[in-house]
Amino acid sequence: MIPIPWRYVESWNCVACGMCCKGYRVVLGFNEWVDIIRKYGVGVTQPGVSRFYLGKKGDGTCIFLTKLYDTWLCGLQNMKPKACKLWPFKILSRPEFGRPNEASHKYKDRKFFVYVDPACIGIRWGKPTQEFAYRTMPELIEIALGLREKQYYSTSKILYRPQYFRVKGRKIV
Ligand code: SF4
Ligand code: SF4
Repeated sequence: MIPIPWRYVESWNCVACGMCCKGYRVVLGFNEWVDIIRKYGVGVTQPGVSRFYLGKKGDGTCIFLTKLYDTWLCGLQNMKPKACKLWPFKILSRPEFGRPNEASHKYKDRKFFVYVDPACIGIRWGKPTQEFAYRTMPELIEIALGLREKQYYSTSKILYRPQYFRVKGRKIV
């Protein structure tokens, strides 16, 4: 799907549907790969032509994807690769997918172009909320730049705000 500029996004909340952990190949930075194989062994990764990727199960889903009732959780929380942290957003230095005005986002003295993959069902379309524009967006850019690792606004609220986690009427804490 063609990525959409961030200014068309009202808000984004990951609903832990797991779709993005099933249909994509997760590329790893070299240091991410080293950290993961030290803890889990080389068997959880796959080599590519010039890069390493997270391994997949026989059904094509990420090797770390875990099902809990009707929800899909990441089993690699503390070492989640940057590619996963940024999905479904693309933080670019050029407006590669068009509409530069709608995609532009200023972070300190730098200009970025941010798009979102419309395949994610956690996107709500509309005018960006204050939280999305001034909390989520800067957090994503800081993660892309390697300035921060912890996620709060740019990840599922399920693990960070347990009051959101209700499965078939039951509260899981
Ligand atoms: S990021 Fe989007 S596609 Fe991936 S699990 Fe969350 S809601 Fe689903
Ligand atoms: S590492 Fe976690 S977030 Fe990334 S694809 Fe695997 S289960 Fe999904």
